[in-house]
Amino acid sequence: MVARVIPVEPFDLVIFGATGDLARRKILPGLFHRFRAGQMPSEAKIIGSARSEIGGAEFQTLVKAAIVEFVDETLRPADLLEEFLQRLDYVHIDAMGETGWDTLKKALRQDTIRTFYLSVSPSLFGAIAERLSTHGIATPESRIVVEKPFGHDLQSAQALNKALLRHFDEQQIYRIDHYLGKETVQNLMALRFANSLFEPLWNSTHIDHVQVTVAESIGVAGRGGYYDQSGAMRDMVQNHLMQLLCLIAMEPPSKFTPNAVRDEKVKVIEALEAVELSDIVRGQYRSGRDNGSYFDDVENPDSRTESYIAMKLAVGNWRWAGTPFYLRTGKHLRDRVSEIAVIFKDPPHNIFPNKMEGRKGNALIIRLQPDEGITLRTTIKEPGPGGMRLTEVSMDMSFADALGDDLTSQDAYERLIMDVIRGDQTLFMRGDEVEAAWAWADPLIAAWDEANQRPVPYDPGSSGPEEALMLMHKGGRRWRPIGD
Ligand code: NAP
Repeated sequence: MVARVIPVEPFDLVIFGATGDLARRKILPGLFHRFRAGQMPSEAKIIGSARSEIGGAEFQTLVKAAIVEFVDETLRPADLLEEFLQRLDYVHIDAMGETGWDTLKKALRQDTIRTFYLSVSPSLFGAIAERLSTHGIATPESRIVVEKPFGHDLQSAQALNKALLRHFDEQQIYRIDHYLGKETVQNLMALRFANSLFEPLWNSTHIDHVQVTVAESIGVAGRGGYYDQSGAMRDMVQNHLMQLLCLIAMEPPSKFTPNAVRDEKVKVIEALEAVELSDIVRGQYRSGRDNGSYFDDVENPDSRTESYIAMKLAVGNWRWAGTPFYLRTGKHLRDRVSEIAVIFKDPPHNIFPNKMEGRKGNALIIRLQPDEGITLRTTIKEPGPGGMRLTEVSMDMSFADALGDDLTSQDAYERLIMDVIRGDQTLFMRGDEVEAAWAWADPLIAAWDEANQRPVPYDPGSSGPEEALMLMHKGGRRWRPIGD
């Protein structure tokens, strides 16, 4: 299949924080890929901005180096790269000061949609939004994109929302969660709502439980200072895993519009039942210096921040009453794996004489990484003569194999930036959604702080703490293995 390129309107995109790590690794290479695909109209303009006092030529050199580093050589012919660099401009602005804004204003065109991408610390969101407004740069049609983390708790998220809403309408604000830009995550909605096969089974009558796993194989060395202030709950569960949970558990929206989809997601968060501390396992990877210890990585031998968390949740509504949702995420685990596993109940009555040893049951596995795709595990007859014995096989579909690398290899950032340019907010979190997720997370964090709870240790490179296995065993269930 050949990738279909849907052109977008001409745009002016301003990237604040254009000299930073995220811009270099994701945003600018992502824009180059869209340019290469022919999706960027010839009038489109990208303006980098940061505190560094550099000129346009220096910025081009920096972007060129980023693309050489992060884009495969075969995908960046020199002439195309040069052509892309010609689209770039740079305006030096200190977000906390008043200079540079008029230069930026002059660089923007009157009748072109303006997008401001704030790839800077959240502490600068309010200052930039305000100056875009007071300097007359933001127009009613402009869009503003903000990066994670969106708050540290409910109060700070509300403050950020307030600071943005003072100058922009909710319809102009795009809060990025790059998990929602992943092909498989969007496919989850297609799978559920564009097929009649799964939806009749998508409830507690047929689904035993759901497992959501986001495992990383690396630790937090190198960004320990930031991570230790945050932990797995704030860094991963409150946003990414919660978004995945919403997409699995939500009711079908009446139409595929941004607000209809997001209304249904908010209802899932609001339906979450209170979680007991006994249904949460918090872990920290610990061992000798050679294997990597969380304490060393964050340079804090007394840290109580979790690098791993597993929990059992209940969505209190008619569809899901009685079906637990297990979430787990952690650093320094056995493998880098992200997946959603929907485990179906056994048939109500077994007619076959031989009991199948080690039966795992029907499951639909939605793989986010590596090798995005879907696997359906079914029970069949074991081939050969000698009676009716059963075995399990997986019907495996890799998106890259089925649809081609070209279609499936796009980075989440590429899609999301193009959605902003198109004005489609479906895959971006709405303000009330973020606040609802914090309102759910805050009491849990407060409860373990109050209990003065220390995370339990686990070996780096393992599947997580023993206690997390027990959390599943308590319910007579098993986690899927992390990696092969
Ligand atoms: P970074 O490498 O520290 O870059 C920060 C950028 O902000 C630089 O371009 C810096 O410009 C600019 N900046 C700092 N203070 C400024 C000021 N007063 N006025 C104008 N510009 C200023 O950070 P990053 O890793 O790119 O992260 C940017 C945002 O994305 C953060 O909110 C982060 O949490 C989020 N994020 C990052 C990643 C990632 O993988 N890096 C992933 C998800 C989310 P100068 O260099 O010129 O000072």
